[in-house]
Amino acid sequence: MIEYLGKAVYESIAIGPVCLLEKKKKRITDARAESVGEEAEKFNAARAAAKADLEKLYESTLKRAGVSQAEIFQIHIMMVDDLDFEDAVMAKINEGFNAAYAVSTAAEELASMFSAMDDEYMQGRANDVMDISGRITDHICGVTGGVSLDSPAIVVAEDVNPSEIVGFESGKLLGLVTSKGSVSSHMAIIARSMSLSCVVATGVKMDKSYEGKTAIIDGYEGKIIIDPTEKQLKDYTRRLEKQRADEAFRRSLIGRENVSADGKRMEIYCNIGKSKDVSAALENDAHGIGLMRSEFLYLDSSDYPSEDYQFNEYRATLEAMAGKPVIIRTMDIGADKKVDYFNLPEEENPAMGLRSVRICFERPEIMKTQLRALYRASVYGKLKIMVPMIISVDEVRWVKKMAFEVRNELKAEGIPFDDKVEIGIMVETPAAAVISDELAEIADFFSIGSNDLTQYTLAIDRQNSRLENLFDPRHKAVLRLIKTVVDNAHAKGKWVGLCGELGKNTELTEFFLAIGLDEVSVSAPYVLKVREKLLSIDSSNIDISKYI
Ligand code: PEP
Ligand code: MG
Repeated sequence: MIEYLGKAVYESIAIGPVCLLEKKKKRITDARAESVGEEAEKFNAARAAAKADLEKLYESTLKRAGVSQAEIFQIHIMMVDDLDFEDAVMAKINEGFNAAYAVSTAAEELASMFSAMDDEYMQGRANDVMDISGRITDHICGVTGGVSLDSPAIVVAEDVNPSEIVGFESGKLLGLVTSKGSVSSHMAIIARSMSLSCVVATGVKMDKSYEGKTAIIDGYEGKIIIDPTEKQLKDYTRRLEKQRADEAFRRSLIGRENVSADGKRMEIYCNIGKSKDVSAALENDAHGIGLMRSEFLYLDSSDYPSEDYQFNEYRATLEAMAGKPVIIRTMDIGADKKVDYFNLPEEENPAMGLRSVRICFERPEIMKTQLRALYRASVYGKLKIMVPMIISVDEVRWVKKMAFEVRNELKAEGIPFDDKVEIGIMVETPAAAVISDELAEIADFFSIGSNDLTQYTLAIDRQNSRLENLFDPRHKAVLRLIKTVVDNAHAKGKWVGLCGELGKNTELTEFFLAIGLDEVSVSAPYVLKVREKLLSIDSSNIDISKYI
């Protein structure tokens, strides 16, 4: 028995034989070429063929895994067409190198640039670059055929590309272990959305001797066990059977109300980034969107997103949710979510710096453009606007005044909007929690941002992996603040949601229900898990003293 530890991507167990994924090696040794024109032609033809492959992959992924996963291949198509990449390849061809060598070296240089970046998301892009370059060089070298599994297996590889993970025949891929990779790579994002048991970054390169051995992936602990003991196999087989039965049971909860066993209601909504994520929310029967992180519109753009671009995104989200509530948060740029074009100052402590609504106080036109787009979209569904990082009543007044001016402008322009849109705030600073009695007089609703509320209450940087074991959102200080916020809001007749990661912790569902939280918003795979828990709770019988 051998055990390795890596990073857990998705909480799920898998058991099966190991299949080593060894990529067909192309020999790109003959670096020099006779004719620049011929090599440029080969490059262009291979690029067109790679694009055609990606378009097919987009279509098949759309059917198998949904819009948000398929979009990765649109990004790859854009990367294949990227002019900087083309220039880098052509520069090498013009230096006299052959097309395959030019593509692979240009891609390696680009990938090592991404790998060297501090940001884990950008590091994940190195894998995408190598994926598309491999696809193009396959066409140049005439290498055909993708990855296929004869029978169900746990795939073990150095790294796996997004296109490879969706290329496996449905049902054959039991789980995935990679020695490299990061939890925020596109491959990991796809693995999660497929609910695939997956561990990355084990740091262990497995050789042929592992082929066919029995392996267990523990996606809770980030562990892979090769040649398990009899006892381990028995225990994990039992856990796997239970997991399967649990999943089937949860699907059967689609269509049910979000109420406890004794009929007390607590809504379960879904957190999303962009309109494309609505499909996953609906597939999991979310009754609303509790947090649309609108800053993703800014993060995915190379310049400030225009009013029309934002309007189309908000409208698409509202229309897709067909009258169910959609809470869109105004942009939360800053701290760990930076974009170059904002030209934000270098700060000693960005999490406590010029962030989200604070940027708008300095640059009100950003908030104005966003509010115009939001109000214009408001006629297409049930919109609620939410403002992050609030610390004072004056700040909410400022935002409401801005919203008032925007409504007047739209009225004067004859543009329709819903003038009943609620304007709420995120309670994610200890300051907001402590003065929530006053904030409840001016805000239409609260949504508790437990991620930042924990970070600021405990004085622990949520980005600092060395302090992960101290970052405890269940700390009494945090839970007491949450209760205070709910009590203060209810005293003024206002409702309260919670949209931080804490919402998916089903050990706390009874606490949230007992204190009267009106709604929790979680990412799509957790909507039915929280509903299952809620349905089992008897609210008349909860002792909250053990939590606070
Ligand atoms: C939070 O802070 O809990 C929250 C939901 O916002 P974000 O994680 O985007 O900062
Ligand atoms: Mg936050």
